[in-house]
Amino acid sequence: MFRIILMGPPGVGKGTQARLLSSTLSVPAISTGDMFRRQIRDQTALGRELQALIDTGEYVPDDITTAVLADRLAAADAQLGFILDGYPRTRAQIGDLDKLLSEASIGIDRVFVLAASRATLISRLTDRATTDGRSDDSPDVVLRRLQIYERETAPIVEEYGRRGLIVEISGEGAPERVAEDMMRAVGRI
Ligand code: ADP
Repeated sequence: MFRIILMGPPGVGKGTQARLLSSTLSVPAISTGDMFRRQIRDQTALGRELQALIDTGEYVPDDITTAVLADRLAAADAQLGFILDGYPRTRAQIGDLDKLLSEASIGIDRVFVLAASRATLISRLTDRATTDGRSDDSPDVVLRRLQIYERETAPIVEEYGRRGLIVEISGEGAPERVAEDMMRAVGRI
């Protein structure tokens, strides 16, 4: 049973690694960003409400984000483990997640913190803008997202450090290399 959190700045490869880990470990990858983008694509009421925030790189409010995550964690396929990609990102969300997990009498096994240089992050996000066409990958929004990550999320990573859950992984290498490093660490769970 694997309950894993992936943390790290935009462009570090959380989504790619979440998918790779998900297929290797046979547990779902849960991305709040993907769930929000689906709502926007399907033009739901929530999607319409969130579009402007996401397009400018701002975080979605904690209550909305946690409600979406709680729903997803309650699904049958998440009962035997999960990879969280992009949640939690704020101190409030760490508390929300603690509460959700303690209600279910479960805990997190490992928090992988992926890191790469700012130059790598910017060049990957800029490249992705031309291939994926994500509305928040434009150059000014990319810089804004990195800034918000540094301000809101980087300072809270250490909370999991205090709990002894963190494994730091370099996200600079090829995806398969990064995945191998994580699998080696998963073997030690
Ligand atoms: P990235 O990690 O590259 O920023 P994501 O797909 O994880 O991309 O997130 C895209 C956007 O979705 C974020 O910029 C933010 O607006 C919103 N979002 C995703 N997860 C969260 C979260 N946990 N809390 C607040 N906003 C979130």
